[in-house]
Amino acid sequence: MDNIEIWQSILAQVQLTVSPAIFATWFKSTGILSIENGEATIAVPNVLSKECLEQKYRKQIIGYLREIDGSVREVFFRVMQIVPVKPQKNKLSGGAPGNGQLGFDEFKFNKETNLNPKYNFDRFIVGPHNELAHAASRATAEKPGDVYNPLFIYGGVGLGKTHLLQAIGNEVAAKFPGKKIRYVPTEKLTTEIINAIRGGTIEALRSKYLDTALFIIDDIQFISGKDKTQDEFFYIFNTLYNKNLQIVLSSDRPPKAITELSDRLRSRFEGGMIADISLPDFETRMAILKEKCQQLEISFSDEILSVIAQTIQHNVRELEGALTKIAAHTKFKNLTPTMELCQEVLSSVNPKKIINPKKIIQETANFYDSKEKDILSDSRKKEIVKPRQVIMYLLRSELNASFPSIGRKMGNKDHTTVMHAYKKISNQIKDDQILQEEINILKQKIYNS
Ligand code: ADP
Ligand code: MG
Repeated sequence: MDNIEIWQSILAQVQLTVSPAIFATWFKSTGILSIENGEATIAVPNVLSKECLEQKYRKQIIGYLREIDGSVREVFFRVMQIVPVKPQKNKLSGGAPGNGQLGFDEFKFNKETNLNPKYNFDRFIVGPHNELAHAASRATAEKPGDVYNPLFIYGGVGLGKTHLLQAIGNEVAAKFPGKKIRYVPTEKLTTEIINAIRGGTIEALRSKYLDTALFIIDDIQFISGKDKTQDEFFYIFNTLYNKNLQIVLSSDRPPKAITELSDRLRSRFEGGMIADISLPDFETRMAILKEKCQQLEISFSDEILSVIAQTIQHNVRELEGALTKIAAHTKFKNLTPTMELCQEVLSSVNPKKIINPKKIIQETANFYDSKEKDILSDSRKKEIVKPRQVIMYLLRSELNASFPSIGRKMGNKDHTTVMHAYKKISNQIKDDQILQEEINILKQKIYNS
């Protein structure tokens, strides 16, 4: 494996952990200049990239390098123009096989629409966990503005929301070449709106979005608590909606569970179609792995794939990451993957997640936007009692802690209070779908953090 191949396989892994925009901005036109005496030198196109990679990605890059070459201890970045790395034959980059084009797929994302052609319906595996969201997305792409408006898709991290949203965009772009499409992550939209308000350029911003035939906003939960952004977004939303232009949103939770969201926006979000994506079952995870193998032009036995699918259950991005890693290792060592290698790689990407009471308390407090100190107090306010009871429930259900010990952790509450909370939440989950969703999302957050 030469330096180019090593870098290709590292970039392929980086791609799985950062957004296409970040990848194109910071990792494009980089390459390995040398690896000598445990020191790797990476070429970067400019000072900005140098600073960013040094500060944010140095550790990650050393980690990846070390997996391939155990002698690497340090990495340096040097500003130097080089020929960008080309895709390797076995396509660890995930490129469309044999298209003969240079560069990673991510380089091809459309600057204006922000769409990455890699995320299309053909590459999206449908299973019981995403059937509804997929069907609604298809129908929306078929007749934008006509069937479900807005379309609101929600689900946990790494479960395919962005993929599905982008697939709608790509499908509409292919079917209706004239239609204006915009995909924007909520953080970016928020920054744009705040800058426009400050700079007095709100009209320009509005004209950028107001005639969009398909407006896709990813991770809308980040709009929580941002009042000015919400006001402006409400205006854009209404204008588009009234013109029968299509709006598609994603979120890590249903509209009801987004805190600090204005009632008028919430009711808009609830006014169309809401579809969730839950966790893929084993068969679907296998199908996803097989699809990824095809993209990477590798063939692994079902035995190997099933070990991966059994180990990684909560996050498709991690599932994909594990496969890419095993592929990179086997390529490097010129091996067909063995069960041992597979297990070795899996234990490094999927170290046994240790969860503890602290994590449960922190994540739950965050989720419900309340302070730990209030939760541990004696306050009987409704917005405090709920997270408190949920924490007690989770401490019991996930850690099997005893009622008295939970009571002590929760600010010296009596064990009967804990028992009551546990029973109450256990019963409520049975017919309160929202609570059920909230607890699912919370568990996902706790196990993924
Ligand atoms: P989210 O936006 O929900 O965090 P992403 O859409 O970014 O998740 O998905 C994470 C990765 O998993 C992406 O590379 C995506 O292509 C892949 N993925 C998720 N679900 C599927 C699926 N059903 N079929 C194929 N690939 C999937
Ligand atoms: Mg996403």
